[in-house]
Amino acid sequence: MAAALERARLETARLTAEGIRGVALSWVDNAGVGRVKTVPTARLVEAVRAGVGMSPVFDVFVVDDSITTSPHIGGPDGDLRLFPDLDALTVLAGQPDWAWAPVDRYDQRGVPHPACQRQFARRMTARAGERDLTLKAGFETEWVVVRPSDDGELVYPTRGPAYGMARLAELAGYLGDVLDALVVQGVEVLQLHPEYAPGQFEVSVAPADPVRAADLSVLVRETIRSVTLAHGFTPLFGPAVEADGVGNGSHLHLSLWQDGRNLCADGMSPLAEAFLAGVLRELPALLAVGAPSPASYLRLQPSRWAGVYQCWGVENREAALRFVPGWHEDPGAANAEVKCFDPAANPYLVVGSVIAAGLAGVDEGLRLPEPVAGDPVHEGKELRLPESLDESLAAFAASTLLRDAMGAPLFEAFAAVRRAEIDLFRGQDPGRIAAATRGRY
Ligand code: GLU
Ligand code: MG
Repeated sequence: MAAALERARLETARLTAEGIRGVALSWVDNAGVGRVKTVPTARLVEAVRAGVGMSPVFDVFVVDDSITTSPHIGGPDGDLRLFPDLDALTVLAGQPDWAWAPVDRYDQRGVPHPACQRQFARRMTARAGERDLTLKAGFETEWVVVRPSDDGELVYPTRGPAYGMARLAELAGYLGDVLDALVVQGVEVLQLHPEYAPGQFEVSVAPADPVRAADLSVLVRETIRSVTLAHGFTPLFGPAVEADGVGNGSHLHLSLWQDGRNLCADGMSPLAEAFLAGVLRELPALLAVGAPSPASYLRLQPSRWAGVYQCWGVENREAALRFVPGWHEDPGAANAEVKCFDPAANPYLVVGSVIAAGLAGVDEGLRLPEPVAGDPVHEGKELRLPESLDESLAAFAASTLLRDAMGAPLFEAFAAVRRAEIDLFRGQDPGRIAAATRGRY
């Protein structure tokens, strides 16, 4: 503790010298919404020492800010302490004079909160470590830019074609500012490009350890949000922006390492195969975690590169699990991409759950089926992943693997939020579901 406090004092001095007024302490709830408490810079040391108070009821917050309940968590009682992780402390380039740090949540006795998503991700990473396995992960960030409008009309500030050079020309200043802000924050950006849907763009970043990858997913999104707003635009991170269009994905890239060697490179090693087979087997249940909103299932349509089939394929963009074998100059870049996940997901729950599923595959020595080439739409319904949140939630509820990994309080609170979102949008037409969710994340 003494070392942490000394570090906090040094960081406070540095932030104060830079004119930073406050530190945003944020976490992502089970609805996939980023929530925040802030402290003035001078109170950072105190926040590191004793945490900052926050009700556990946020574990059962729903995407529209209504509140549900669950067997272990819910109701007005109790309080938690949020502890900022100084390793991830970042001066925000897009929000002048603010810094940010993700938090871990503890109870008032200093015991880890059983439903803390970030500590769940860390526990699962450590579980891999017990098997001498290291993971590298990275989330892609897709988003849509629109002009603010009061009547819900979607007005795109760019008319350029998909992946079109014209989109870059139209929004060069804005996109340059997005790049700058990320790079200044020390985020290693791999690419930025116009995506398929109107007004859609994507940023990808370098792989990192799983918890860091989830932190980065938050930081990248908040950076894009700030820069977009500063340019007078509105960023939309929901899975479905237009009900019947291509949506926003949040694909997860993963590679498995042992003794400094990428087990996905040079042909998949048996361990990597077993891991990916574990992920593939659990996908229907994982879908509730990675595609957790009723809006997610508007996006999850065949032939839109959203990966709606429970199969894997080499560089197959319609398989839920796309294997990327690396390339001649960079064989170490080999990885697997889970394509069916979207930005409504809590990234900490995503990495934790995927690791849990993969390690079960390792423990059982699972093998992958034959890879699928071409659009699996031609294989018929057999491989189709759940087509609604009701279906994926049923798979999730039946997953003893995920229940054991998460622990009952987190598992039940997460399921309760899914149920509440099903109820919230029951019977609503797709246009209304997309409109109600696209700006919430
Ligand atoms: N936007 C697509 C999705 O919903 C992904 C496009 C791509 O493959 O990058 O996941
Ligand atoms: Mg993309």
